Amino acid sequence: MASKITSKRRSLDLSKLAPESVAVRAGTRRSQEYQEHSEALYLTSSFCFNSAEEAEHGFANAESGFIYSRFTNPTVSMFQDRLAALEGGEACIATASGMAAIMTTAMAHLKAGDHVVCSRSVFGATIQLFGSILGRFGITTSYVDLSDNKAWQAAVQPNTRMFYLETPSNPLTEIADIRAIAKIANKANALFVVDNCFCTPALQRPLDFGADVIIHSATKYLDGQGRVLGGAIVGKKSFIMDKVFPYVRTAGPTLSAFNAWVFLKGLETLDLRMKQQSANALALAQWLEKQAGVEAVYYPGLRSHRQFSLAKKQQKAGGAILSFVLKGGKKAAFKLIDQTTLCSITANLGDTRTTITHPATTTHCRVSPEARKAAGISDGLVRIAVGLENTDDLIRDLQGGFKK
Ligand SMILES: *Cc1c(COP(=O)(O)O)cnc(C)c1O
Repeated sequence: MASKITSKRRSLDLSKLAPESVAVRAGTRRSQEYQEHSEALYLTSSFCFNSAEEAEHGFANAESGFIYSRFTNPTVSMFQDRLAALEGGEACIATASGMAAIMTTAMAHLKAGDHVVCSRSVFGATIQLFGSILGRFGITTSYVDLSDNKAWQAAVQPNTRMFYLETPSNPLTEIADIRAIAKIANKANALFVVDNCFCTPALQRPLDFGADVIIHSATKYLDGQGRVLGGAIVGKKSFIMDKVFPYVRTAGPTLSAFNAWVFLKGLETLDLRMKQQSANALALAQWLEKQAGVEAVYYPGLRSHRQFSLAKKQQKAGGAILSFVLKGGKKAAFKLIDQTTLCSITANLGDTRTTITHPATTTHCRVSPEARKAAGISDGLVRIAVGLENTDDLIRDLQGGFKK
């Protein structure tokens, strides 16, 4: 360190790298003091200046420097830059949870009197957020069928300012035609927001198909190991830096540096995990299709999926989530779930550990039986979020549930 030799290496050109390389290399900044190889975890709430004048300059240019960790933090910035690069977006702001990312996007873009068109098949808390919280502030929301492009068009009002969806949907894995809906949103002058939680940029990049903004619950596959909560918003620099950043800086739904560090490590294996978990899910879906007790299997990687060709155009693989309907209804579903010993019985997903859920009595238990039926959440439906265990072990774990 006492050396007087000053060498400058050429900097890395990210634009020439494949996604697997971007996931490992993008966003890394080393401290001049130590040149640490792995990203440092900056657990500090504020940053110091060398003089009052430097502080004055820092506060006047709050976007570029480090002042206080509610605004920006080096570890959080590294995660933001890496995720932006992976999604093919210009900028990213990280938030304390996936819900905070959705709330932040709405607060940054909408005002009283605005209207949102939202897919009916989005995360339950997202529906609550648009309905019972934003509704109190004079924002109205219409819900449409995810895969019905005409319904998106028909729901547009003069005050429509945002389109919102997840694809594939949970738990029935319906696919939205991102390119077609982007055209409708664009013509309506509405910001097109896609929650890319299930596929992640490893499998699908909605910005490439015309979406304006990407939402992540980083809690799921970006961490991928069920450890910490976080979220992110990716999009154009003008939206992220001029609208989202001022809101986060002031309202404070900021991501912690510790969680950002965990996500940086998660992103390094994202591509490997998503490929393997998709392969495992496909093997399991194909096996389920052959079981006599199974009425239907929903998985975008199956040829029998209603939108197989659209999924193939948008996604590199089917993803890790599948669901299926058992002929014996709730009784058969509970029997199958209860006889497993390897799968975790939990409503969470996005983990290396496989989870098994009965949507009708858990994730969708607050939905009325009529609405549940209309949405295709039958009593025999079981959802599996496939992890990294060996597929033969997973099949053996489920097999007992099909024995007479
Ligand atoms: C979990 C989830 C969210 C919410 O994320 P949190 O990190 O739990 O706040 C949003 N969208 C989808 C699709 C999710 O699965």
